[in-house]
Amino acid sequence: MKLASLRVRVTSWYGSLLAAALVIFGFAVWMGLRNYLLTTMQRTLKDESANIVDQFVAHVDAKGESWLAAEMEESYAPESDGRYIRILREGQVLYQSRNVEAASMQTWPPASASQRIGFFRKITAHAGPLLLYTLPWESPAGVHFLIQEAAPTTAMDRILKSLLIALCLLTPVILAGAAVGGYLLMNVPFRPVVELTRHAEKVGTSAPGERLPVIPTGDELERLSISLNRMIDRLEDALAHNRRFSADVSHELRTPLTILRGELEPLVENPDLHPQALDAIGSALEEIERMSDIVENLLIISKLDAQGPLPRSPINLGALALSTVEQMQLLAEDKHLKVYADASRETWVSGDRVRLQQVIVNLLDNAIKYTPAAGEIRLSVSGQCDYGVVEISDNGIGIPADSIPFVFDRFYRADKARSRESGGTGLGLSIVKAICTAHDGNVSIQSREGAGTTVRVELPLCSAEEIERRLEHEAHPIDHWDDAAPATPDASDPESRALLPVNHAE
Ligand code: ADP
Repeated sequence: MKLASLRVRVTSWYGSLLAAALVIFGFAVWMGLRNYLLTTMQRTLKDESANIVDQFVAHVDAKGESWLAAEMEESYAPESDGRYIRILREGQVLYQSRNVEAASMQTWPPASASQRIGFFRKITAHAGPLLLYTLPWESPAGVHFLIQEAAPTTAMDRILKSLLIALCLLTPVILAGAAVGGYLLMNVPFRPVVELTRHAEKVGTSAPGERLPVIPTGDELERLSISLNRMIDRLEDALAHNRRFSADVSHELRTPLTILRGELEPLVENPDLHPQALDAIGSALEEIERMSDIVENLLIISKLDAQGPLPRSPINLGALALSTVEQMQLLAEDKHLKVYADASRETWVSGDRVRLQQVIVNLLDNAIKYTPAAGEIRLSVSGQCDYGVVEISDNGIGIPADSIPFVFDRFYRADKARSRESGGTGLGLSIVKAICTAHDGNVSIQSREGAGTTVRVELPLCSAEEIERRLEHEAHPIDHWDDAAPATPDASDPESRALLPVNHAE
C-alpha cells in the first residue's frame, strides 16, 4: 500500500513539475508571439507615419490641402487598407480618412502641439480595438503637425486568443497523458522494490538464514539490498548471541540450583534444627523453587527460539484441552474455583502435542492464579474458519488496560507483588506466544481490571485428509503416534462436544 502511495507521490511531484513547466512554456510562447505581432505592427505604423511626413506633410504648405488629401487617398487608400489616418496642423484637422468618421472615433487621444516624440496608444473605436501611433513633426517654418495613424488589432487578438485556447486545452491533456504514462512506467523501476518488500516480509518468519534477493541493477537498489542483507546478518548474529547466552545461563544455573535444593531439603527433616534456621531454609527453598521455574521457562523459550519450525502431527485440540483441565482440577479445587469446559472433539490442529499442552497449562495456571476463591473459569475449544480456537476466560482480577500490551513480553508482570506471591515469573505468556508463533498461530488477550480476562489462542486446523489418515492410524495403529490424547467418543459426529463442569467447589 505504501508503495502504491509512493508511486502516486512521485507521479504527483512529476505532474506538478510538468504542469509548472507547461504553464511557463505556454506563457512564454504566448508572450513571444504577442510581442512579435505587436512589434511588427508598431514598426509598420511608425514607417508609414514617417513616410507620410516625408512625402506629403513636408510639402503641404507648398502644394495645398487638396493635394495632400488626393495623395493620401491614392497612396494609402486608408479605408481599404483598414487604416485610420488623421493629420493635424497646429491642432486643426488638416486631413482625416473617411473611415475615421464612420468608426466614430471620439477617443483619439488629445493631441498636444508640444509633443516631440511619437507614442503608441491602444484605443477602442466603434469598429473594435485599434493601435494608434501619434507622430509629432515640426516643419522648418516652425509649424507643428501631428500625424496619427491607427490600425485594428482584431486579427492579432484573434491569433493570440486561438493560441491561448489551444494551450488551455492541450496542457491538461498532455498533463493527464504524462501522469498516467508516468504512473504506469514506474511499474518497471519499482518492480525490484516490490520484490524486495515481498522477501523482506518473509525474513524472520521463515527459515533463519533467508536473505533478500540482490537485485543486479547496479544502482542504489542493488546497494540497498546488499546493505539490508548485511543488516539482517548482524541482527541474526545478535539474536543468536542472545539466545545462546540465555540458554547457557539457564543450563549453568540448573545444576547449582539442583545441588542447592538437594543439600537444603534434608536439613528441613532435621528435628534438632532451630525454628529460625528452619524458617530461613524454608524461604531459601522457596526462592530456589522460583529460580528453578525461571530457569526451566527460560530453557523452554531458548529451545523454542532455536528450534525453528516444530515437528507437527494432527492433534485433537478438544481432547487435549479436556485432559489438561482434568489434570489441573486439583489446583482449581484448592482455590474453590469452578472450571467449565466446552470443547469440540472435532477440532484437530497440526502441532506439537507437548507444546500445545503447555499453552493450555500456562493459560489455565494464570486463570487459577489470578482468580479469587469461588470464581469461575471457562474453557472452550471450537473450529472457526481455518483455525482451532481455544478460549480461556475467568472472572478474576483482570489486567489494567495500560499493562495489556506488555503481558506477552518476557518477565513482564502487571502486578509484580501479587504475581510474585502467586509464584509468577512473568514468562508464562511469552512461552504461550512463542509456541503459538511456532505453530503459525496467534494469541490475544482481552481483560478488564476487576472483571476478568479472556485469552484466545488460534491455531491452524488440519486438513481433512490429515485427520482421516490420523483416524485410520488410531483404528489400525501401525506407527507410534506421539499424541496420547484420550480416544474420541464419536469422531464422525460433528456435534460431538464435551460440556462439563469439571469440578464443583462445594
Ligand atoms: P506470570 O508468571 O507472572 O503469571 P505470565 O507471563 O503468565 O507471567 O503473565 C504476565 C502477567 O499478565 C502476569 O504477571 C499477570 O499480571 C497478567 N496475567 C496473565 N494472565 C492473567 C489472568 N488470567 N488474569 C489476570 N492477570 C493475568
